[in-house]
Amino acid sequence: MNRKSFLGALTGGLGTSYFAMAATEKGRAKTIKIVQFDAAGNRTGVEEVEKIVKSDEEWRKQLTPEQFEVTRKKGTERAFTGKYADNHADGIYHCICCNTPLFDAKTKFESGTGWPSFYQPLAKENVKDIVDTSYGMARTEVECARCAAHLGHVFEDGPKPTGLRYCMNSASLNFTPRKG
Ligand SMILES: [Zn+2]
Repeated sequence: MNRKSFLGALTGGLGTSYFAMAATEKGRAKTIKIVQFDAAGNRTGVEEVEKIVKSDEEWRKQLTPEQFEVTRKKGTERAFTGKYADNHADGIYHCICCNTPLFDAKTKFESGTGWPSFYQPLAKENVKDIVDTSYGMARTEVECARCAAHLGHVFEDGPKPTGLRYCMNSASLNFTPRKG
């Protein structure tokens, strides 16, 4: 085999395995478009990322028992017990499970509820609203779009400019101070 045909065989081989892999991924249809932000909270663009699906066992290894109960079992932390209800620092709140950027501290407000409250998400693509009729109430549950972590609920009694109140669990969030 001369050098040229060797290289041809090599790239041909890589090409085949690449397409085989892409076809498998496509078959699962497990990607989602989310909006990425830098550490200063500036939008850097839309990115197609893989959805994150893990077993309860895997999540338990990664999370504290409270974080697991809230995010993977739709739990609610007791009011005024979460670490971010009273956090006034400037920065970005990410999903505790998959690090997707979810809320900017600039949209956080004093709701008096004992849960961190925001009037809008960083990007509507990054969260998913789901109608929740448990406990005999019609509420809108909010999940992380990438990993389906339960974050909290959204209500229509928030402040301007949106009139929305994203009532979140501290246990679902990870705060990082703004940089830049
Ligand atoms: Zn997530």
